[in-house]
Amino acid sequence: MRYIDQDELALPGGWLARAAAASAAVAGGAAPDDYADVWRELKDGLAALFPDKKCWYCESQVDRADNAVDHFRPKGRVSDAANPHTGYRWLAFDRRNFRYACTFCNSRRRDVANGTAGGKADRFPLLDEGHRLYAPGPLNREKPALLDPCELDDWELIGCQQENGKPCPASQDASERHRVEESIAIYHLDYEPTCKQRHSAAVRLMADVEQAKMFFGQPGMNEHFTTIAKKIRRAIDRKAPFSGDMIFLLKGQRHDEHPWIQKLLET
Ligand SMILES: [Zn+2]
Repeated sequence: MRYIDQDELALPGGWLARAAAASAAVAGGAAPDDYADVWRELKDGLAALFPDKKCWYCESQVDRADNAVDHFRPKGRVSDAANPHTGYRWLAFDRRNFRYACTFCNSRRRDVANGTAGGKADRFPLLDEGHRLYAPGPLNREKPALLDPCELDDWELIGCQQENGKPCPASQDASERHRVEESIAIYHLDYEPTCKQRHSAAVRLMADVEQAKMFFGQPGMNEHFTTIAKKIRRAIDRKAPFSGDMIFLLKGQRHDEHPWIQKLLET
């Protein structure tokens, strides 16, 4: 996961007026899905906020699926709510509620072969259910359990295991670990084929780190070192697959004898 700056989204001409009209219709009893064209209009713009049309939750590349626009706060019902909740309908056309997501993160799926299931669908757990909004109100009252790529600090809370590419918490804090575990389950981040891809990226990264460590500071090896250091830098760039996980793994390699690692992370 990486941080996505929603403010960079350029809105098509007249979009805010169309969103306001749709929102008024929904407030009057219409179904949000009847106006799905309104959020679909933003699909390409949202995709462009992250290189290579990667999913904001898992950093996999997204096929051009119709449901690529996820409502972070569900527009339909909310299955985690303590009382019956018909969804955050008043946010159905709020651009800040949109996240660009792959089908595996967004839709409920079961991977029978590997025994995992997930997909966000109507899930939206809170850390404190007592603060749940059932009608328009200050959103900062709610503390979402799910990690949000549009929050500055959330993306760094999750990483992956070097040995198998499975997602894991980056922090020791109990509440943060709880949020990561909920996110892994609900975004289906432990989907086996994704773990395999993540693992391949991790294997490549760690092989490069080993080489760079060998070459660093050795007479006559500076050019080799620089070539590999650049490769590592590319692996943690926003453009790279699973770059957030690669940053997590690279952070674990920091060492006093290898100050270049910290430097790369800050570049
Ligand atoms: Zn995804």
